[in-house]
Amino acid sequence: MRRGGRLLPGLLAAVACAALSACAAPPAETAPPSAAPETPAPIAETAPIASETPEIVRCVVIDPGHQRYGSAEQEPIGPGAAETKARVTGGTTGRYSGIPEYELNLQLGLQLRAILEARGYRVVMTRTDNDVDLSNAERAALAAEAGGDVLVRIHANGSDDPAANGAMTICMTPESPYNSALYPQSYALALSILDALTARTGCRREPVWETDSMSGINWSTIPVTIVEVGYMTNEREDLLLATDAYREQAALGIADGIDQYFAALSEEAARGAAGQTGGGA
Ligand SMILES: [Zn+2]
Repeated sequence: MRRGGRLLPGLLAAVACAALSACAAPPAETAPPSAAPETPAPIAETAPIASETPEIVRCVVIDPGHQRYGSAEQEPIGPGAAETKARVTGGTTGRYSGIPEYELNLQLGLQLRAILEARGYRVVMTRTDNDVDLSNAERAALAAEAGGDVLVRIHANGSDDPAANGAMTICMTPESPYNSALYPQSYALALSILDALTARTGCRREPVWETDSMSGINWSTIPVTIVEVGYMTNEREDLLLATDAYREQAALGIADGIDQYFAALSEEAARGAAGQTGGGA
């Protein structure tokens, strides 16, 4: 199902972030080693080990958006692009909480890492500190080099309209001049995270925004999405995001969406395999 539309006018004001790219991952199949078939047979034999599909460990790269000091130096917004943008900015700031976005993004990213690791993922962070100097293009490159299957960029929104609230996710358009081949998977990732995030937190659901204006998405060579977890310019949402408890729900929702994305990939792979062996007709 695809509910996401293209960009909503209202949102624009908001997005204070840029996105990076992602990675593609092989379906992670965990075939639980079937308990050794208990044969009535006596002890003797070494029962042949049931052939098992090796477990695939998926790698999620988390990019907590921004950093303490932005860098106004320019970089192309995508491979071969004439247009440039600041390498990285400082992001927005909680109008009521006073918390800088780069700090919120890092805290949420670390909570997400803990949840994903507990669920068996390999997790790589583009940064674990606010005092770094990493451009959006560099973050995308780092995600691919790390062997990431997907790149999840964590951001929070801002708007001139204090009433604006809710979560959205972002990916490239199907016509992206940079990495359109990653659109189907990136869109699927963006959609499943948005659904699960809004289900967990109960926040308003904005659409999946498809745009080719985000350097971090454009430079990505693996499936990628930006998660705008809420508006730091909305009093209620800003103050909620400042609490560990709400961020934990948001992190759980993002993790659920990632689970669902990989589960769908695995199902697709299984169907593909079944189709192949099915042969004929
Ligand atoms: Zn941002």
